[in-house]
Amino acid sequence: MNNNDKMAELLLPSINKTPDYYESLYPERNLKEGARVTRIAPSPTGYLHLGTLFAALVNRITATSSGGIFYTRIEDTDKKREIEGGIADIIDGLGRFGIAIDEGFTGADEQSGNYGPYKQSQRAEIYQTYVKELIRQGLAYPCFCTAEELDEVRKIQEDRKIRTGYHGEWAKHRNITFDEAKELIDSGKPYVIRLKSPGSEENTVVFDDCIKGKIEMPENDEDFVILKSDGIPTYHFAHAVDDHLMRTTHVLRGDEWISSVPKHIQLFKLLGFRPPEYGHIAPIMKLDGGAKRKISKRKDPEAAVHFFAEEGYDSESVIEYLMTVAASDFEDWRKANPDKSYKDFKFNLKKMSVSGALFDSDKLNNVAKTVVSGFDSACVYDKLTNWAKEFDPEFCAVLTENPEYTRAVLSIDRDVPKPRKDIAKWNEAKDYFSYFFDSLYKKDFSLPENISPADAKLFLQKYKEVYDPSDDRQLWFDKIKAIAPEIGFASETKEYKAEPDKFKGHAGDLSTVLRIAVTGRRNTPDLCSIMRVLGKERCISRIDEALNSL
Ligand code: GLU
Repeated sequence: MNNNDKMAELLLPSINKTPDYYESLYPERNLKEGARVTRIAPSPTGYLHLGTLFAALVNRITATSSGGIFYTRIEDTDKKREIEGGIADIIDGLGRFGIAIDEGFTGADEQSGNYGPYKQSQRAEIYQTYVKELIRQGLAYPCFCTAEELDEVRKIQEDRKIRTGYHGEWAKHRNITFDEAKELIDSGKPYVIRLKSPGSEENTVVFDDCIKGKIEMPENDEDFVILKSDGIPTYHFAHAVDDHLMRTTHVLRGDEWISSVPKHIQLFKLLGFRPPEYGHIAPIMKLDGGAKRKISKRKDPEAAVHFFAEEGYDSESVIEYLMTVAASDFEDWRKANPDKSYKDFKFNLKKMSVSGALFDSDKLNNVAKTVVSGFDSACVYDKLTNWAKEFDPEFCAVLTENPEYTRAVLSIDRDVPKPRKDIAKWNEAKDYFSYFFDSLYKKDFSLPENISPADAKLFLQKYKEVYDPSDDRQLWFDKIKAIAPEIGFASETKEYKAEPDKFKGHAGDLSTVLRIAVTGRRNTPDLCSIMRVLGKERCISRIDEALNSL
């Protein structure tokens, strides 16, 4: 046994498999040419946030567009920061947004696929097998430095204006011998395993980021930690082993990882793996006092995906909006293909923003209005009542008291060829539909300036006499037009515009009076339909109330 082999046995005596074992256990995937294997690898240290959802979407559509596989892996190497329910929140959250998972974690405790286990804490033996191999090759070694010692070194480096870190002459245990290591281990000193980096800062690593293009960085010369003292790998090492063995072709992740690429490429090389393609996703940004900044989990409610659920954004609206953020050519495609699923869009990573797209809530609302306008009334009923059940139970009780009535309310200007784009999120519905429900209705009989209370009253009295709830739209308006000249208003808007001095207003103004009387609003969807749904009794009693108040 040579010294490296002896060191490997000393440090990882219980590991008796070799990398070959795992190489054949997890063979190359049998996919068609060009199929991309992507993943998200969340750490369960918090709840699903917008950045993770966005990355999941980008990875999902990259896999879908190429006929590939999208899987999930749980990176739980930092047990101290893990939160209870974190995995379930992230995985279930993806499900709610319709992000299908082909393989990996599909629930808090459920995983499937031939490349697992998909949770890093269940893979210790795999990582240690590869670490042992690196030690055998003289490419890794134990380091016994304490946190205090490392701190001291860093201070000296700072004082001398030297690049900080465990590299070159500062790598204290780089040339540790077997005997030295054995003595320290026998004396009970804890240690980590570090990579013996063959890199030099003078050299350059070049890689072609599939989102950001060509990137050049100095080679890594730091002997960074690959295995912590508890036998758990660092992110860098686990990334290399997992993405290799899970046969990931494209690592599309947040661009906070870009500075680690030299380490990663080096690890892939030293381990004898082919590196994946990297694509670094710029964060979603926000305007804050005129300056662009990264959306912050601390400052911005929309950073947490729960925000969208609470507000009542449909998951489809959020995804549709994120697609516009992800791909600069998505909106044009959507215009040309209004009825297709976003999943049919041919996604190209090169169309992603390099510096970070702005989160634009007006745009989200516009997109959401279009999405919601595409739902029929039965669907809106289900979605709205589900939302209300969770976030506004009182409103839910109102909505579900008479489901047939509520469905009729929701069908106004909806189950038609060109539905009205009115609602962006369910928390707008209570106010929007309030006048349909007596318990929510707020009277407000204030009239536009050009209409006097006396004229309004006269009109309402006359209208009451001819009102018939079975009138169709045409007849409904014809009746208003017929009353107009009797009280000095023009029947036709054209007429009024030609000679404005001759009239007090036009029939449209009178329909506003009627609208105010029965709904308390100046603007609503089609009033004839509204009155039909409200029913004769309610309409007459509201008109009477208006007559008494005017
Ligand atoms: N666990 C890492 C994170 O949550 C994953 C990064 C990656 O996708 O490689 O940031």
